Amino acid sequence: MGITKEVHLPNLSSESRKMPITDAVKKQIAQKRRLFFKICLVCGAKNSISATRCRKCKHEALRLKNRALGVKK
Ligand SMILES: [Zn+2]
Repeated sequence: MGITKEVHLPNLSSESRKMPITDAVKKQIAQKRRLFFKICLVCGAKNSISATRCRKCKHEALRLKNRALGVKK
């Protein structure tokens, strides 16, 4: 009793300081997420890139849609 222990939090400074993620990186990920998906050939539903079959009609005919970023003709 009576011992005043100074609490040191060595990780606090690095943890509390939020690393500012550059918007460019965020934007790139968001764009990739938006562009990389599969389209069902049967019902046209949009499925995730990892989907093996349609989440709507369960058909396996999925067309991969991965447009390259910034494609200009
Ligand atoms: Zn479908």
